[in-house]
Amino acid sequence: MKISEILNQKKPSLSFEVFPPKTTTAFDSVKAATEKIAELHPSFMSVTYGAGGGTSRYTIEIAKNIDKAHGVPTLAHLTCVSSTKDTVLDMISRLRDAGIENVMALRGDIPADVSGADKSLWTYHHATDLIREIKNSGADFCIGGACYPEIHPESSNQAEDIKYLCAKVEAGCDFLTTQMFFDNNLLYNFLYKIREAGITVPIIPGIMPITNANQLERAIKLSGCFIPQRFKSLVDRFGSDPLAMQEAGIIYATDQIIDLYANGITNVHVYSMNKPEVAEKIQSNLSYIIGK
Ligand code: FAD
Repeated sequence: MKISEILNQKKPSLSFEVFPPKTTTAFDSVKAATEKIAELHPSFMSVTYGAGGGTSRYTIEIAKNIDKAHGVPTLAHLTCVSSTKDTVLDMISRLRDAGIENVMALRGDIPADVSGADKSLWTYHHATDLIREIKNSGADFCIGGACYPEIHPESSNQAEDIKYLCAKVEAGCDFLTTQMFFDNNLLYNFLYKIREAGITVPIIPGIMPITNANQLERAIKLSGCFIPQRFKSLVDRFGSDPLAMQEAGIIYATDQIIDLYANGITNVHVYSMNKPEVAEKIQSNLSYIIGK
């Protein structure tokens, strides 16, 4: 099923993100965790793709398993930076052969050690280049793209970031999923600005439940997102007690999601990080709201 059809249903729904194993030995445990999340029958599940190889080789396998074994529509991520045209075209045909209907088209992070000379040899410099490649291939995917309520760390200002986001949507994005954020007002301000810029495709807010203090540090390092004092106090108070921190993080994320639904957002994507217990608790906290 295409994600655009799910988004058109215009009723509150919830989706989860998982990541593929980094090693062959971790494959079975990751597969089992993703299956447990699939048993919750979320509206869809996304499977990430490691930039520059790494975890990328299992993305299709995990996504296909979720779809075929559990009937949950999947969204397979695909990055393009530093990939050759042959690799990208091969991935597009493998995704199609696996029956996957939804692709999240991403640039990926630029490797730290790359030189300007290396970059000049690349075929793909931005997610927009990948979206055009997918469209040119003739494959009929529903295509998602990433967006950043607090701007992408490489952008010098929000106007520039939104200008490139408009180009990404024009290239063929059917929906956009946001980077994590911990203050919903940042999302509402962003929505106002992108709608004003003419972007009309559905926006899926991405919510990261922070269930331990180290995870928060990683999240800030990765995205540079703003942490409200209310959330900092919670980590200060419960960060050293794993179960209390997990409970508090799930409730904070649930509170953010309820506020989003209350303000007209229909689909929320949860960065569930292969944690079935977190996905299950969030979904059950919202059972009457999403009708599950
Ligand atoms: P782009 O859309 O290409 O944007 C990157 C930067 O380039 C921005 O600053 C943008 O403003 C600028 N830009 C865009 N077009 C142009 C242009 N034509 N000229 C000049 N500047 C331009 N990473 C992974 O490795 N695997 C994943 O599975 C993964 N999933 C993600 C899912 C979501 C929802 C999000 C938000 C991020 C994800 N990432 C993933 C991280 C992502 O790869 C990084 O944030 C990466 O740095 C940017 O990817 P992008 O697709 O947003 O890039």
